[in-house]
Amino acid sequence: MTRRSPITGAGRPPGFVYREEKKGLLRRSAGLFLFCDDIAITKLAEHYGTPLYVYSASVISERFDAFDRAFRHVPHTICYSVKANSNLNILRLLAKGGSGFDVVSGGELERVLVAERRAAKKVVFSGVGKTRDEITAALKAGILLFNVESESELWTLAECAARLRTSAPLALRVNPDVAADTHPYISTGLRKHKFGVPIREARTLYAKASAVRYLQVTGVSVHIGSQITEVAPFAEAMARVAVLVGALRADGHEVNYVDPGGGLGIPYENGAAMNFSDYASDYSKAITRPLRGLNVHVLLEPGRSIVGPAGALVTRVLYRKTNDGKRFVVVDAAMNDLLRPALYGAHHEIVPVRRGEDSSVKFEAVDVVGPVCESGDFFARDRELPRVEEGELLAILDAGAYGMALASNYNTRPRPAELLVSGKSAKVIRRREKVADLLRDER
Ligand SMILES: *Cc1c(COP(=O)(O)O)cnc(C)c1O
Repeated sequence: MTRRSPITGAGRPPGFVYREEKKGLLRRSAGLFLFCDDIAITKLAEHYGTPLYVYSASVISERFDAFDRAFRHVPHTICYSVKANSNLNILRLLAKGGSGFDVVSGGELERVLVAERRAAKKVVFSGVGKTRDEITAALKAGILLFNVESESELWTLAECAARLRTSAPLALRVNPDVAADTHPYISTGLRKHKFGVPIREARTLYAKASAVRYLQVTGVSVHIGSQITEVAPFAEAMARVAVLVGALRADGHEVNYVDPGGGLGIPYENGAAMNFSDYASDYSKAITRPLRGLNVHVLLEPGRSIVGPAGALVTRVLYRKTNDGKRFVVVDAAMNDLLRPALYGAHHEIVPVRRGEDSSVKFEAVDVVGPVCESGDFFARDRELPRVEEGELLAILDAGAYGMALASNYNTRPRPAELLVSGKSAKVIRRREKVADLLRDER
């Protein structure tokens, strides 16, 4: 099946739109140019090279604010999920806007502390395999909450807290056994998954936890998966959590926090049709309605829905080639730079950075592939795109989440530079790696 790529960009997230360039360098070539905020991406690519991650600060802030507004009717804290995009400058931008953070490793905790030390008290620590060192660092930093995922972890947490003569605030991450329609690798809320403790066993574990002096039971958490675009599974999970909260309070536990996790998906296809405020509001209703009357403080852990549409991976066409009639566009970005298509078969819209007048645009079905020596190294297969020539630029959209965060040095490819654009200014928030950086630790 071939899918035609939208070229007008009309209604794309505000950070990435086509404009006419009337002044300067670009004027000589006809057509429209893709901008990130108020800067032509062509100029960024000329100046900083490709492949290049470009993020719009205004899109990040606007989405964070819209998400926050959707929950204004309940006490809540947004704990942005650091693993979606962990660049220090993005963490700092979000912290300025009032965000807390969800971390899943000691490394992510350190990032938060470097970005904004005072955000520590708004940090929740999730993950099935926290080490003693990581737990101890989080206790010393004074984080808000540990999302504990097993009985053994509970005892480890107690031991670390006892050693520091402190008390560890915790929620058990319960597995609500709710199915969510997403890729199997990022679905986490079913009994068969490694995450959390079965919701049926939760009361017993809470009883054990509250008997320990160094543990402080304070909430219940869940996280049913990622890239979930229907809100019903969230409501279903919350309905089960609400029942549990009632039972735990009857058992005499203090339950101040409910943490529904993250996982709200984004439309990787037809993103134009989506109004994020309305979507966030639907999500908020699904989460908060089942919790009505419980008077809990809601912790939210969105990642993708905040930063996904705020980023694009800009890449240059190296070669065009045809094998037995099949057309390939070989670009200078690869699976090591953006793994999602190879890992999940994920779809990303790909648009030309310069497009001709509408009447002159010719479409063709192509595979957009990178230089890595694997057939899994593709960004699109059999996709109808406006014809692009060697040397021209493409933008792979919605790459702000799980893009750079999942990038590797496979094939000894230095990772791309990252730019944060704000209005007319662009800031390098991570310099392009050099091959020397990759070899340094092996000498
Ligand atoms: C990955 C993850 C998130 C963020 O998920 P998104 O789909 O990016 O919103 C939140 N909480 C936990 C525990 C996670 O593992």
